Amino acid sequence: MKLPSRSKSYMIPEYSLTGDLLSYITCGLQYRYQNKGALPPSKPVQRWFGEFIHGVMEESYNEWKYNKKDFPWDWKEDIRPIEDLIDLRLQVRGLYPHDEELFFSINQPGKDLTIDDLNEHDHKKLASARAEEAINIWGKDLFPLIKESEHLIKGVRPMPNYEKNISRSNYYGINGVVDVLTSTKINSINEQSNLYNFNNKIVNFIKKHLVRENDNEDYEVIIDYKGMKRPPVKVLNPLSEDKWENHKQQILTYSWLRAKQEDAANISAGIILYLNELVPSKEDLALIKEEIRNNLTDIPEGIEFDDDVQLIEEWEEDEKAPTLSEEFKMARSIRYIDINEKECEKALKKFDSVVEDIENSLVNEMKGCRIQDAWKAEADERTCLACDFKTFCKNNSDITKDFKIP
Ligand code: SF4
Repeated sequence: MKLPSRSKSYMIPEYSLTGDLLSYITCGLQYRYQNKGALPPSKPVQRWFGEFIHGVMEESYNEWKYNKKDFPWDWKEDIRPIEDLIDLRLQVRGLYPHDEELFFSINQPGKDLTIDDLNEHDHKKLASARAEEAINIWGKDLFPLIKESEHLIKGVRPMPNYEKNISRSNYYGINGVVDVLTSTKINSINEQSNLYNFNNKIVNFIKKHLVRENDNEDYEVIIDYKGMKRPPVKVLNPLSEDKWENHKQQILTYSWLRAKQEDAANISAGIILYLNELVPSKEDLALIKEEIRNNLTDIPEGIEFDDDVQLIEEWEEDEKAPTLSEEFKMARSIRYIDINEKECEKALKKFDSVVEDIENSLVNEMKGCRIQDAWKAEADERTCLACDFKTFCKNNSDITKDFKIP
């Protein structure tokens, strides 16, 4: 009797929306060293804050869901223990904040501090101030709308330009994690449950953009948090990443993936919350000022924001940050993404073309091509200056020549 031989294992390459797509778009060679070479960045501060704020929002939602704690939450009593928990989780993964970001952990070895020892005014640093605003400004309206948080979505697509015996696989996988899925009948939301606030700012914002004549159907809104300022709507430097467009494509790809899941309702819209806008740092303010001056930003619109715009325009970097109105900060923090088939198709084509580029570079490398020759090395000056690989990058001689170690 002839025993059948085991077939060759069949694995398809997996690509994540944030870890691969957005990272590769920033710079191909940097992506190769960091993601495929498993070399973590030496100063992952941006990554720390992104992960910190996601963790804080997720944990705060769980706290609200089980204890229904009323808003506003007190920083010292309600928020600080959550921050501490998330900080410790990140420390285990080797992620630490800058000194000016967060008060040191109360659980650090050698420190016998308790919550009562914290001096709120001295120690509420940037990350804490943002966490507090994110929970008290958006959390109170967002949490009652949540159907699911940290929802994993996956899908499969044909490998672009597949060639037998050359391409690694005839399909590739896409995955991503949706921060928040809401399920709601927006037009009748006020009658649905007494949990909903009649002045729910997120519902009102969606209603302003989404016109539905018949809303008896249940549908979903995808919400994504970003630990960054609102990006400019136009990018002047062709080497700079177009974050405005890339974030939109991320949401559109999420909506395509989500629509394929069995329990998905109709997906009507996407919302992005740019949480740094609630407490902008001086660096953020300097960029906002420049974008306003060069007409590169979409918000604010309307005379009600004239005073805030004037405060930013007149502010100098060596001065104290101006006090902006809550309405202005909220308007800059929230962004609406319209979901439609044509736009989704465009976003998926973009994802395909990035996967094609990555696969071509990988195949070239597997054939013996040098890493620096196999991967595209293109980024703007700001990205290059912060890059760990600038000293030996083939495309960076001009920048490293003038670069002095501070
Ligand atoms: S120095 Fe610039 S071009 Fe070179 S790998 Fe780093 S980000 Fe890319």
